[in-house]
Amino acid sequence: MSHKLKVGELKEDYLTDEEIWRIFTVVLSTKSVKSSTYKYALIKSIIENLYQIDDNHQLTYNQLAYGFAKIYWNLVVHHDLENQNRGDRNAKAVTVILEFQKKHAIPNEFSYDKINDQLQLKLVSKIKTVMKTNVFGALYGDTGGQFYAFDHSREYFKIKKNVHQFMMKYQLLLVNLTNYHMAKMIEELNEVPSINYLLEKVETVAKRSSLKPFERVLLHYFEASCFYCGKDLSKQKQPTEVDHFIPWSFVQSDQIWNLVLSCRHCNNTKRDKLPEREYLNFIIDRNKVLKEKVIESQSLLENYKDKKIIMLYDYSIKNGFDEIWVPRRG
Ligand SMILES: [Zn+2]
Repeated sequence: MSHKLKVGELKEDYLTDEEIWRIFTVVLSTKSVKSSTYKYALIKSIIENLYQIDDNHQLTYNQLAYGFAKIYWNLVVHHDLENQNRGDRNAKAVTVILEFQKKHAIPNEFSYDKINDQLQLKLVSKIKTVMKTNVFGALYGDTGGQFYAFDHSREYFKIKKNVHQFMMKYQLLLVNLTNYHMAKMIEELNEVPSINYLLEKVETVAKRSSLKPFERVLLHYFEASCFYCGKDLSKQKQPTEVDHFIPWSFVQSDQIWNLVLSCRHCNNTKRDKLPEREYLNFIIDRNKVLKEKVIESQSLLENYKDKKIIMLYDYSIKNGFDEIWVPRRG
């Protein structure tokens, strides 16, 4: 069985978009065997990490396990969707999370990001073990080794370049398809009111509860002013907000290099639109300063490159985020 594999090499032949679609269609549909929801969670975690990839197209097991843990934490702890497996036994990831929660007496209301860093790392490491036994090899098998290579001993995970490009190009569509199929399977396994009820849960599993830690870092090193309109935010009357420069609904993750301080008016009018292109230069400059100034941001800016945010901007337009927002400057 492919899920037992410890190493998987990448088949280097070039795939057309059509061929990649065909593989995705099989992987997502009931044509591929799924005893649990793991494959969907791994795809979601890869998508969440598309812009965290390094120059060699690699992601770390930790990055992927972090996304994976967060997905199940939200499903299991917040939404009581404990059945993620066919058959009598719970999926191992679910058992691990429930035991972990109990052992460390973490309240149900705690979102994953609220758990302290040390504990998060502990859980990530446990989840990684589950992924090594049951997840990486299984999806590798389903994709016929055409999407990624992996190696458990080195914790090495490399996506094929043109599959990576494909995933960025059709990101939104892939997210929606994955959410839909995952919700459908969870619906089958749990007693829930409807697929719409579930879709909402599955769609929001990646959402972070608070951007406060980022706000603190930004406020510490930058003047309290709106990134878009320049309004002074240091006065009490003007609450500071944190805005995703590239809309959250597209990136589905929170990276400090994509977050800016904003006034309420700009944040509310921008919503999930892109700011006009000129601001791309501004955020690149801002990130340059961030990289120089902030020692603790070195880890926060790991793998950040100017070209990444440019790429993200262009890919979000290709994914339908083509409505451009212009701030009211004054
Ligand atoms: Zn503003």
